Amino acid sequence: MIQLYIPLNFLGVIYREIKQALADIERMFSLLDQNQEVVDKPGAPALQVQGARIEFRQVGFAYDKRREVIRNLSFDVPAGHTVAVVGHSGAGKSTLSRLLYRFYDVTSGAILIDGQDIREVSQSSLRSSIGIVPQDTVLFNDTIAYNIAYGRPSASREEVEQAARAAHIHDFVLTLPDGYDTRVGERGLKLSGGEKQRVAIARTILKNPSILIFDEATSALDSRSERAIQQELNALSRNRTTLIVAHRLSTIVHAHRILVMGQGELIEQGTHRELLEKNGEYARMWAIQLHSQQEKDTYGNQMA
Ligand code: ADP
Ligand code: MG
Repeated sequence: MIQLYIPLNFLGVIYREIKQALADIERMFSLLDQNQEVVDKPGAPALQVQGARIEFRQVGFAYDKRREVIRNLSFDVPAGHTVAVVGHSGAGKSTLSRLLYRFYDVTSGAILIDGQDIREVSQSSLRSSIGIVPQDTVLFNDTIAYNIAYGRPSASREEVEQAARAAHIHDFVLTLPDGYDTRVGERGLKLSGGEKQRVAIARTILKNPSILIFDEATSALDSRSERAIQQELNALSRNRTTLIVAHRLSTIVHAHRILVMGQGELIEQGTHRELLEKNGEYARMWAIQLHSQQEKDTYGNQMA
């Protein structure tokens, strides 16, 4: 029995190591892929940001030529405004944020910032103007300070800590063995989904960009932390052009405009009030979320 157990246990260790190595290779290839797909035009100038008005002009996109994921989508985000995107899972919300950050180029149409087609400007200037809190944050195999300062490598330790406080992760960092010098990521301390989200939020606060993209930025947090961090995000997005992909509708009630997406297309848009009056898809989603919230209030929820 023992004779059999030891080799099997050993195999388990090897299996995990191989699996990790494959995951790393996969990630490396996906980075290479992106570099091949999206390239700077020779001599591409830097993006000139004034108010940071965003325009999606008849945008179409397919990851795979055989299936269009975004179809003929047009909308704009006026300078300093907040536009929220809602819709069921798979509708294409995250894809919109990836296209704006230019992880991929549109298949048809164009995306413009202050009138400049984002394919015509350098990627570095585009990306330095945008802060993105993605749905799944991948941390670098480096210290937590490095991971936060990645938003602005020249930041001082004090500025890093300030951003961490605003993202409600400072106290947690102090409990780590080496504080801000603790190594995190695949080969270091593995953080939970919520902790990673807070690191990404701290990174964005520190970066202080003209344009913000939040893609379900607080989805991994419990509702109490979410409310606290939501206030920081609201303050950050005031007077800054912001695109929010929201999973919880109560967080976007005050958006200047809400876009409702279904299968790659816009099916409704308006303010929260307008959409409720319309009594369509948004109103239906709102009623469902309100109902599940009431059930939590009545029967208690995970926070109780
Ligand atoms: P949402 O954020 O609204 O849930 P996504 O934008 O992530 O939706 O996805 C839209 C569609 O595109 C889905 O059908 C999804 O399966 C597909 N998709 C997303 N990412 C990729 C990818 N990297 N390669 C191929 N298809 C993808
Ligand atoms: Mg998504």
